Amino acid sequence: MSQIRKDPASRTWVVLATERGKRPSDFKASAAVAKPDQAELDRCPLCFGHEDMAPPAVFEMWPAGGRGRKMTWITRVVENKYPALRPGELLSQEDVNEFFHFLTGVGGHEVIVDSPKHTDRLANMPHGQLVALVKTYVQRYRFWRNDKRMAYTLVFKNYGPEAGASLSHPHSQLVAIPIIPPRVAEELDEAKEFYARENECLYCRMIATELKGKPSRMVFENDTMAVFAPYASRFPFELRVMPKRHMSAFEEMSDAEIGDCAQALGVMGKSMEKLLSRPPYNLMIHVAPIRTPGLLYYHWHIEIIPRLTLPAGFEWGSGIYINTVAPEEVAKALRDGIKRSRPSNVAR
Ligand SMILES: [Zn+2]
Ligand SMILES: [Zn+2]
Ligand SMILES: [Zn+2]
Repeated sequence: MSQIRKDPASRTWVVLATERGKRPSDFKASAAVAKPDQAELDRCPLCFGHEDMAPPAVFEMWPAGGRGRKMTWITRVVENKYPALRPGELLSQEDVNEFFHFLTGVGGHEVIVDSPKHTDRLANMPHGQLVALVKTYVQRYRFWRNDKRMAYTLVFKNYGPEAGASLSHPHSQLVAIPIIPPRVAEELDEAKEFYARENECLYCRMIATELKGKPSRMVFENDTMAVFAPYASRFPFELRVMPKRHMSAFEEMSDAEIGDCAQALGVMGKSMEKLLSRPPYNLMIHVAPIRTPGLLYYHWHIEIIPRLTLPAGFEWGSGIYINTVAPEEVAKALRDGIKRSRPSNVAR
């Protein structure tokens, strides 16, 4: 029998219809990203040595010791060549007429170059590179916090053309925007209500529940981070990464937590590739709004959605998702893959 599950953290409903008979292994992607040929490498604006082909950098991370002649930057952040929003304009609300209004498109739209190496992915990046990437996210959150016109900073990553990536070089994006995104506003509302009722952070409770849940939806944990398949997963292989300690701003992480977050991203990338080849995916970081960084009721988290199925008429028309693979099965399959490659650090 199918189940209709509600996500405790949002107003999302999911119909879990597992009798349709799909197994986790039925979703193997047909290698989303082909091996790059020389021509592609030659015209990649994000590769090391091609800095003049990209818009100006707003941030670069260099190895200790500075910009030696033979040295390579570790990560770099450039303005998006085709920005959806621009920082230089005046924020104001204007009227089309007495019914329609708009805000001027003020904001930030940045491309974060994850690595100088074209073929790097979450699954094969060295730990040090993943740490640098997470530190770069932290730096950009700190930067945008100072722009008082902005309400929200969203860091995300599109991998593979099916997930909306137009460049194959490993990169993330950041959009700073003067409104709070509705999906986050919904999570904030639910979390606030839960806190008023239970006097506890909804996400802290969620992690505690997942850590002892049977059957388990846990995929991986280390000292400070937990990775699990959410109870009301909208899509097959949807995942969450959350800090075990209560924290509503990403940039609150300690160095140890940054290291653990980087490890969690790497392990997740590897286990997804092992099971699904190289699935296209979207990764989104949800944090507290800029003006309220230290919320007791909201808890930052990373949402990962492999793009293996497409929302169709039912999803668009109802806002309800049909998922044919139980998150419990997904977690088990990913866990088994991790166990085979590294016996320690695995959630039981
Ligand atoms: Zn490249
Ligand atoms: Zn919490
Ligand atoms: Zn979220």
